Amino acid sequence: MKMNVNVELDAGAKTFASGLLPDLIAALRRSRKGDLVAVISDDPAIGPELEAWCRFTRNSLVDTAIEEGRSRWVFRHGEAHETIAEDRPVGSRLWLYTNFDCNLSCDYCCVRSSPKAPRRALGIERVRRIATEAVELGVAEIFVTGGEPFMLPSIGEILAACAAAAPTTVLTNGMLFAGNRLRMLRALPRERVTLQISLDSPTPKRHDSHRGKGTWARAWNGIERARAEGFRVRLAATVSTDAEAEEFRSFLDAHHVSEENRVIRRIALRGSATQGIALAKSDLVPEVTITAEGVFWHPVGAEDNDLLVSREIFPLAESFAAVRRAFDREFEHQRRLAMIFNCA
Ligand code: SF4
Repeated sequence: MKMNVNVELDAGAKTFASGLLPDLIAALRRSRKGDLVAVISDDPAIGPELEAWCRFTRNSLVDTAIEEGRSRWVFRHGEAHETIAEDRPVGSRLWLYTNFDCNLSCDYCCVRSSPKAPRRALGIERVRRIATEAVELGVAEIFVTGGEPFMLPSIGEILAACAAAAPTTVLTNGMLFAGNRLRMLRALPRERVTLQISLDSPTPKRHDSHRGKGTWARAWNGIERARAEGFRVRLAATVSTDAEAEEFRSFLDAHHVSEENRVIRRIALRGSATQGIALAKSDLVPEVTITAEGVFWHPVGAEDNDLLVSREIFPLAESFAAVRRAFDREFEHQRRLAMIFNCA
């Protein structure tokens, strides 16, 4: 899907040797910090130089695509408004995307999940092998996400296998805790499994506008059901502005939800989202993420080529090593830039 931008620069056949640089500077002057600028070119060969220019100028490259036979790069003017950087070792967290299909089709879903999205299942056998190898690699936490993981008949086995390896959090919209699924949930060890349930606003209006009519009430029921079953519940809100974040914080305070049981994050401009924070690889500290398609840099772009690290999942140690090598390369770029711009 074509990424919406604030400024478009049709570079024709220009290269850095024939006048592209002044055009880029002019495009920056026409935009504000945080805006997205697209460069469209007949010449795909300018890609590596454009990427280097983005690094040097700290305007992160956030998308690359071919469109009607022409190349289109999108970079963000300036550094991210907000990064998702966390201070934890690469490989301490492991993310598993179990299926990709979902009972909802939220308008900002970062991996385009929906009832129509084809199931791309990791499968219980692969999950068992991942869990076994994760123990040897010292993974401290496993995060299981879907689409909606509770769409899977095998989710009970998947979560049990993960929980046996490390404390496990399952991300869910909380709407499917009934019947067999509730029985599966009841069989899980409370001390090893946390439910992270999405709730975007204190009242239904905004949550339902992104996720569908009636979803806030059903999510709230799911939260109460999970708590009644004795699970630790973490509430996760996806918001557009600081004001929305603050409003949700007050709501959580009023409901005595502790800091460790809350996550408030901004919409990322990935997947189905048409607005949000444009995040490049260099904005994200890697958290190894495994899907049926391979190993990715971070869960926020688990189907995006710019964040794909390897198509091979096993051995897991090699996947982890590939992510660390990619991180080292990224770090080395930053270090070189720091040296080049070290003026005194
Ligand atoms: S954001 Fe979550 S609940 Fe919404 S479509 Fe995506 S996976 Fe489903």
